[in-house]
Parts: sequence; C-alpha cells; structure tokens
Amino acid sequence: MIIVIDGPAGAGKSTTAKEVARRTESDYVDSGAVYRGFTYLFMINDFDKSRLTEALKNHDLHFDFHIDNVRVTHGDKDITQTIRSAEINNRVSEVAAMPEVRDEVRRILREISGDRKRGVVLEGRDLGTVVFPDADYKFFLTAAPEARARRRFDEQTRAGADTSLEQVRENVEKRDRIDSTRDIDPLKKADDAVEIDSTYLTFEEQVARITDFVRS
Ligand code: C5P
Repeated sequence: MIIVIDGPAGAGKSTTAKEVARRTESDYVDSGAVYRGFTYLFMINDFDKSRLTEALKNHDLHFDFHIDNVRVTHGDKDITQTIRSAEINNRVSEVAAMPEVRDEVRRILREISGDRKRGVVLEGRDLGTVVFPDADYKFFLTAAPEARARRRFDEQTRAGADTSLEQVRENVEKRDRIDSTRDIDPLKKADDAVEIDSTYLTFEEQVARITDFVRS
C-alpha cells in the first residue's frame, strides 16, 4: 500500500505522515530529505551546476529510511543534521528544479518504495502527480501561509536554530514560489488527491482525516 502526502512547506506533512505511518504499520519516507542530500552535494561542489551534474553520475549519497526518520550519509560522513541547515534550506528549491536531479530522486524513491514488504507513507511535492501517479491513497495537505511559517519557526527553534519568524516566513514563501512555478514537476495537487486544510485542525484531527479515509 502506497500513501502519498503532498503539499507546501510547513503544512504539517512530516509529523502527520510519521503518525499515519505508525498507525497503519507502514514505513515513512521523507522525499524532501533526498532533495536536501543532493543540495549538500551541490554545496560541497561550490554551488557550481556543471560540477553537480558531473557529481550526480557517481554520487555516494545514501538514504536509510526508518520508521520515523531518515539517516543521510555521503560516503562515511553522516549529514543527517547538515541537510536541515539554513544554507541547505536556502538552496534546496534551486537544486530540486534541475531535471537531472529530479530524475535521480524519482529513481531512488521508486526503488526504496518497491523494496518494502510493508506499506509506505511518503511525503513530498510531486508524489501524487509524477512519482506515484497510481498510489493507493493521495492527500494534499495545505495551511494558511502564516500558520505554515509559524510551524516551521517553532520546529526550527525547538531544534536549537538561531532564526526569526520573519526569516522563516521569507524562506517558506520563496521555496513555495520556486516549487510551484518551476517548469518540471511543480508542487501541485493531483486531480484525484483529497485536499486537507490544516489551518484550524488539531494534529489529531489532521491525522484522523487521513487514517479514517484509508480505513473506510
Ligand atoms: O519537505 P522539505 O521542506 O524537506 O523539502 C525540501 C525541498 O525539496 C522543497 O522545498 C522542494 O524544493 C523539494 N522537494 C521537491 N519534491 C518533492 C519533495 C521535496 O521538489 N517531492
């Protein structure tokens, strides 16, 4: 069983997807982490696009997905924390707009999901439209921009980041703009996805909307 949850940054996809995975005894796959891994590769290649294209051919990135987290390594180096840094936040949408990166990420996501004995809950931007058009269940999670910025800010300050609500709002708005206007695989609700606006929902309600639907 494949359940996909797409939507913009800060809509609550990660926390919701993890809980849905737990309740449906599925694995959780965070597709944004894979784009973040490739952004790290871009970073260590001095943000040079031609070097990234070359590095993609023989990259040493590994994504180890567990029940509620993903461990990302580059060779022997654990970059799980690094991929959440402000620098990566600021460049990830640029990398995710590159066709050769999207091809590789799509291949990785399909491989990971095909390998599993259990169901899988994936979160991202184009999973219902492009990566898994035949997914068993598709959801599109949204929330008002202010609520999304606030959630991301709370999340990042809890994790110890030194940032302001304004900075987070700017980053979320910029990423959404790039993600939804890029030429390939833009952030978009699949026609057959169930849309959930989480602005005024509690976490429990948000999760229940999905699990009730899956069980019905
Ligand atoms: O979900 P997260 O904030 O970690 O995603 C980081 C970025 O990865 C997004 O802003 C987007 O540019 C890209 N992404 C994507 N397609 C996906 C998942 C993430 O383009 N399926």
